[in-house]
Amino acid sequence: MSHPNWKRVVIKVGSALISPNKQGCSSHYLLSIAQFIVRCRANGTQVVLVSSGSVAAGAHLFPDHEKSNIAVKKAMAAAGQTEMIATWDRLFDFPSAQMLLTHADLRDRERYVSIRETIFSLLEHNVLPIVNENDTVTTDKLKVGDNDNLSAMVAAAADADALIICSDIDGLYNKNPHDHDDAELLKKVDTIDASIYAMAGGAAEGGVGTGGMRTKIEAAEKAVSHGIDTYIINGFTELSFNMLLAGKNPGTHFSPYDKPMLENVHWMRHTSNAQGEVIVEGDFDSSLENDSEQLTSSEIVDVKGEFSVGDTILVRKADGTKLVKAKSNYSSCLLNFIANQENDDFASEFEDKTGPIISDQHVANLEKE
Ligand code: GLU
Repeated sequence: MSHPNWKRVVIKVGSALISPNKQGCSSHYLLSIAQFIVRCRANGTQVVLVSSGSVAAGAHLFPDHEKSNIAVKKAMAAAGQTEMIATWDRLFDFPSAQMLLTHADLRDRERYVSIRETIFSLLEHNVLPIVNENDTVTTDKLKVGDNDNLSAMVAAAADADALIICSDIDGLYNKNPHDHDDAELLKKVDTIDASIYAMAGGAAEGGVGTGGMRTKIEAAEKAVSHGIDTYIINGFTELSFNMLLAGKNPGTHFSPYDKPMLENVHWMRHTSNAQGEVIVEGDFDSSLENDSEQLTSSEIVDVKGEFSVGDTILVRKADGTKLVKAKSNYSSCLLNFIANQENDDFASEFEDKTGPIISDQHVANLEKE
């Protein structure tokens, strides 16, 4: 049997597979996924598992809970996480490791690099990393919010060559297959554009997890721009996994970009959040690509928010137009100080000595964020 030549894959498994009837964890659907992971590893492919299911697995311990109570949901996640990890761990005869992450961890460059190093060390020592969002510590501002997007960020951090997202249907259809008998499965998507998002529709309603098809497309977009082959497959059937191992596409395959973004630019675009804003006037505009034009303090009319050296910032025009997302090489405090200098010579001498105000700038598709 031929198998794909992957060096490293990330597989994302959703809550509905872990806890199909919300009565704790069930290994019913996990057996074929575990078998797939075992066979990948036997073929020399390293695997990172991104597993949802803590909330669903812990729900039965809080029978009289109010659905909207966030504190109880976090308690479910805390209790369900141990059960979920124990369930996975029982299915393997090699060690696994739990990694709980938040968006705050991933968007901080130092923590991001530390996460990468941990993943690589685990893989090097044949330990299976099992990643989930750290639901107990997140607030709206700090969370990724869904494990589809988290899995793409993890795939980028892990330098994976494939991301496999398990769904409850066979892949992306041109219309909702639950409502339309003539819905057709898209076997291959080369470009993720507005028409693809339109097919994905809104977030899933009434499901066990939080992700619908839309978040899977967002994840695919993040992954393919990093050069990662992405598949949405039906995780409920063993056939999907057998086909993948035979080098066949069981669902929808999203082709990776020919020229993937550089690792730091990808992180800037898809993982980091702007910590503050710089409002500019004058000629500094979005025609700048590849660091060709430099922002100078004389163009800055306002600095919003508090940020430190190395944080991601957004450069906007006064009318709100987003121009550039970039790394700030100045703190908000220092930038405010030099932007407010009456004497332009002082500011430009300062910049000459200290270096460019921003770097790693990224200009494409900012209005979508
Ligand atoms: N982190 C959540 C959990 O483990 C799941 C988020 C999702 O379903 O995407 O329950």
